[in-house]
Amino acid sequence: MRFITHFLFSVLGFFLFLQIAEFVHCSLESYFPVNSLLVVAFFLFLGTILPDIDTTSSRLGKKTPFFLKPLRLLIKHRGFFHSVLAGLLLAYLIAFLAPIKYSLVFLLAYFLHILLDGFTPKGVKAFWPLPFRFKGRIRTGKLEESFLCLVFLVSDLILLFIFIGH
Ligand SMILES: [Zn+2]
Repeated sequence: MRFITHFLFSVLGFFLFLQIAEFVHCSLESYFPVNSLLVVAFFLFLGTILPDIDTTSSRLGKKTPFFLKPLRLLIKHRGFFHSVLAGLLLAYLIAFLAPIKYSLVFLLAYFLHILLDGFTPKGVKAFWPLPFRFKGRIRTGKLEESFLCLVFLVSDLILLFIFIGH
């Protein structure tokens, strides 16, 4: 799926997570004040884009320096990097560099990327190295993805206003 759809879905996931937390009386507002939104967006961005490091057509894949290209050949698209294991390992590494709450924001975006790719015909091996592949019918770049993208955008805007208005 396209980057923008993934990113809007990550943003949606983050806001829904905050809403659910508040619903069960476990407000996370103090952890994520409005002025931390840009940092949150950065970690959502990172978690959204990193799984596609294994593809030549992704933004990140295209920018891979030439000396790292052989590495990409070794990693099959939607293999290791599209797995829960990779998300956990990377979030663990990020936790050394940033506060743990942002590492969890990264992990959320990473998992949501895998989940969304699981709805495409190509699917994902989310529990790599186990061979099970989750598949769906939403074709990348087609009408159904554009529709999803629009739904995510509208939902994001509504939840953003709720968040800021708090
Ligand atoms: Zn992907």
